[in-house]
Amino acid sequence: MSLNQDFIREASALLGQEQFFVSEPMSKHTTFNIGGPADYLLFPANMEQLSQIFVLLKNYDIPHTILGNGSNVLVLDKGIRGAVIKMHAPMSYKRCEGNRIIAGAGAYLKHVSQFAAENGLTGMEFACGIPGSLGGAVFMNAGAYDGDMSGIVVQVKTVTHNGKILTYEKDELDFGYRHSVFQHNGQAICEITLELASGDKEAIQAKIDDFTQRRESKQPLEMPSAGSTFKRPQGYFAGTLIDETGLKGLQVGGAQISTKHAGFVVNSGNATAADVLKLIKEVQDRVYAKNGVKLFPEVRIIGEQ
Ligand SMILES: Cc1cc2nc3c(=O)[nH]c(=O)nc-3n(C[C@H](O)[C@H](O)[C@H](O)COP(=O)(O)OP(=O)(O)OC[C@H]3O[C@@H](n4cnc5c(N)ncnc54)[C@H](O)[C@@H]3O)c2cc1C
Repeated sequence: MSLNQDFIREASALLGQEQFFVSEPMSKHTTFNIGGPADYLLFPANMEQLSQIFVLLKNYDIPHTILGNGSNVLVLDKGIRGAVIKMHAPMSYKRCEGNRIIAGAGAYLKHVSQFAAENGLTGMEFACGIPGSLGGAVFMNAGAYDGDMSGIVVQVKTVTHNGKILTYEKDELDFGYRHSVFQHNGQAICEITLELASGDKEAIQAKIDDFTQRRESKQPLEMPSAGSTFKRPQGYFAGTLIDETGLKGLQVGGAQISTKHAGFVVNSGNATAADVLKLIKEVQDRVYAKNGVKLFPEVRIIGEQ
């Protein structure tokens, strides 16, 4: 797709230079440090502006992809055609109302979890080390240790392709294992209300510290990755299966099965998305041949190969 100069002019005027980029490498915006360029990258400042962006994209017939912190995606090497809308810093507000926290989709989970602790609210400690945005966590129903987002989200505000703002209540979110209704409707998650319980500040902080320590000792946090590469197959752990198949350290180009945690593919330096895809296929084939278990990626693969 060639770049549309009229769109560029209108989008620059709407967003300003700090929040609008053209031909932007997605390797700079994903925790894998992998990914070709997006034609356009936009950082909306608020829900109303996002709504205007959608109307503009529709007028120019430009497709869009929504991204949070890019911590659960593999962007392919030719990048993403059309617009990537990244819910980031401008939409990272948060406030506390009784036992509820209301926050923008761009807020880091880590910050919201810490904010809950500071306000003496318990229930979100599980999320303290997940390096995503709140919106991405709702989309994925992210979880760890003793909880996931389905246990704490009570309301979600979204913007549709037509620029309409909608409100979803808890029973409309269709949460399941790493699943939510938003995986099927393409809407942009903008604002989330969480319901937590009041608790003892010191006990909450101690739990966060314990989860952080456990994560740091087990996961290859010092290397670029997108977290667990595969979903947990029923009755197994992907990392254990991969380890037992003898694949720790297996490398294709710059992509490697972490030597610290076999559930993670890491970028050991200059990995391409093609390297990661080849490694994923190799692991799937060898684990299936040894154990008869099929592994499916948890990482969402987007863009052009
Ligand atoms: C080191 C490491 C550890 C991790 N540990 C965990 C863990 O313990 N548990 C866990 O569940 N995950 C884990 N992850 C994966 C990841 O952090 C989570 O899935 C996280 O919730 C993704 O959030 P994100 O903002 O980065 O989403 P992105 O990666 O940006 O996007 C993921 C998907 O959500 C969609 N999306 C994102 N934001 C929005 C939005 N506002 N509106 C609509 N759609 C949106 C995107 O289109 C994409 O399909 C880990 C990742 C890393 C790198």
